[in-house]
Amino acid sequence: MKDSKVDRRDFLKRALTLGAAAGAASLLAACGKGGGALVCTDVAGLAPADAATRSSLQYVDASADPAKVCSGCMLYVAGQPNACGGCQVVKGPINPAGSCASWAKKV
Ligand code: SF4
Repeated sequence: MKDSKVDRRDFLKRALTLGAAAGAASLLAACGKGGGALVCTDVAGLAPADAATRSSLQYVDASADPAKVCSGCMLYVAGQPNACGGCQVVKGPINPAGSCASWAKKV
């Protein structure tokens, strides 16, 4: 017969390991650092006027024109490596690979 104390300890270890892994995965996904493409689309905290500006300037998270990306725009405010940055006119998280109608070449 197995010792039920050992079984319980083993169960708790496994539960803690799985819980930690799930927590880390959701944290990475929320930060857009899950190993996939960077996602900078969370506008939940924006004021309605800022969200409207973002929309009216047609911000997109992935530019259709590789020559016109936010990281090459003079209005882009760089963030940490592999993280969303900001913009002087479009509020909210900005993808360095994104773009909008106000793109202006960085000089
Ligand atoms: S103005 Fe537009 S293209 Fe330039 S950084 Fe801001 S969102 Fe990107």
